[in-house]
Amino acid sequence: MDRDEYLERLEATTEASADLFEHFEERATAGRTHYVLTAARHGVERGTVIVEETETIVRGYPSIPRILVLDPGVPSFFEESETVAIEEKLDGFNVRIAAVDDGDPLAFTRSGYVCPYTTARARDRLPLEEFFASHSEKTLCAELVGPETPYSTHEYEGVDTHEFRVFDVRDRESGEPLAVADRRRLCEEYGLTQPRLFDRAAPSDAVRPTRAAIEELDAAGREGVVLKSADGERLVKYTTEAQHHEELAYAFSLPFDHGRDFVFSRIVRDAFQAAESDADEDRLEERARDLGESILRPMVSTIRDVEAGETVGERHTVRGDPETIEALLEHLRGQSLTIDLESDRREDGERVLEFVKVAESSRDRIRYYLNGGTRDE
Ligand code: ATP
Repeated sequence: MDRDEYLERLEATTEASADLFEHFEERATAGRTHYVLTAARHGVERGTVIVEETETIVRGYPSIPRILVLDPGVPSFFEESETVAIEEKLDGFNVRIAAVDDGDPLAFTRSGYVCPYTTARARDRLPLEEFFASHSEKTLCAELVGPETPYSTHEYEGVDTHEFRVFDVRDRESGEPLAVADRRRLCEEYGLTQPRLFDRAAPSDAVRPTRAAIEELDAAGREGVVLKSADGERLVKYTTEAQHHEELAYAFSLPFDHGRDFVFSRIVRDAFQAAESDADEDRLEERARDLGESILRPMVSTIRDVEAGETVGERHTVRGDPETIEALLEHLRGQSLTIDLESDRREDGERVLEFVKVAESSRDRIRYYLNGGTRDE
C-alpha cells in the first residue's frame, strides 16, 4: 500500500504518513484486508476504511457538534446567509453502506467494522443494487432504528423490528455530502425512507421552529434534531429532555461500565436546557425528580438483579436467516464481548435470538460491594 498516495487521497492535514497510519488497524474482512482508522486524526474521521485489494476508501462519518442553548446557539453556529434544515435525529446506530468492489455492498459501523447482520439486512431491505448501479461512488449514511437491532433498542411507533432511515448521502472517498434538498429528492426517487424534515429557515428564524420540534419530540419520547446547512456541510445537534433521561437511565443501569464523562455530559445538557426554558418552578421540580429517578431507580434495580444472580447487561433481540445470526454472534464474540443467550427460536422461517451483552465490570463491582467489599474514595 502506498501510504503517501493514500495520505493525499484522504486529504489529511499532516504531511507525514506515519503520523496518520500508526492509528490504522489491519483487519481481515470478507476475504479482503481492511485498514481502519481507530480514532479521528489529522482531519480524517474515525472509522475511515481503506480496502487494500480494491484500493477503495470509505470515509468515516463526521462527528456532529452539539449546542447546549438554542438561542444564540443556532444563529451563532450558521452563517446568516445560509438556510437551515431542521431534521429529526433518530436514536439507533450509524451505518455506512458502500459498494467497495464489484460484489454486494457492505454495511460499516461507525468504528469501521463490517457488521454481517446489518449488511444482510441492508441488502434485504434496501434497493441497493439499483442505487449503486447509478451511484457507485456514493455512501448511503443511515440509522438502523427499532427495538430489534444488535446495538440499540429505542422503540419507534410503527417499527416492529428494525428499519433503515437514510439521513445523508456522501461521496465515498471525500465524504463530501449532497445538499439536503438533493439528498431528500434522491432518496425519494429510490424509495429510501428518511428522518422527518420539520422546517427550513434562516438561522435567526430557526430557533422558534427548532424549539417547537423539540417540544413535540420530547412529548413523544424521541431523541432530538440535527440542524443542517442547505449544502449539507455544517451539522449541529440538540436533544430532548426525554433523551437525556433515557441515556442516564441506561448508563446508571450499568453503572461501572460507563465512564463518568458519559453521565456528566447528559446532566450538563439537561441543566442548560432547563436554564434556557422559561418554564415555571413546577416544571423544573418535575424535571429534577425525573432526572433523579433516571439515576437512582435503574441502579437500584441492577444491584437487586446482581443480588438475585441474574445476568446484567444490554439486552437485544435480532431476527434473520440462521447463517446471518450465526455470523453476528461470531462478530460480537470477536470483539471480546461476553454474550449470554437468553432465547433462541424460529419464527416464520427466521431465527430469533435474544441475548445479553454481559456488563462484566458492573456485575463484578456490584457483587464485590454486596459482599462487603470496600471502596477507596
Ligand atoms: P458524534 O456526533 O460526536 O460522533 P455520537 O457518535 O455519540 O457523537 P450522536 O450523539 O448519537 O453520535 O449523534 C450523531 C449521530 O446521529 C450520527 O452519527 C447519526 O448516526 C445519527 N443521526 C440520527 N439522525 C440523524 C440525522 N437526521 N442527521 C444526521 N445524523 C443523524
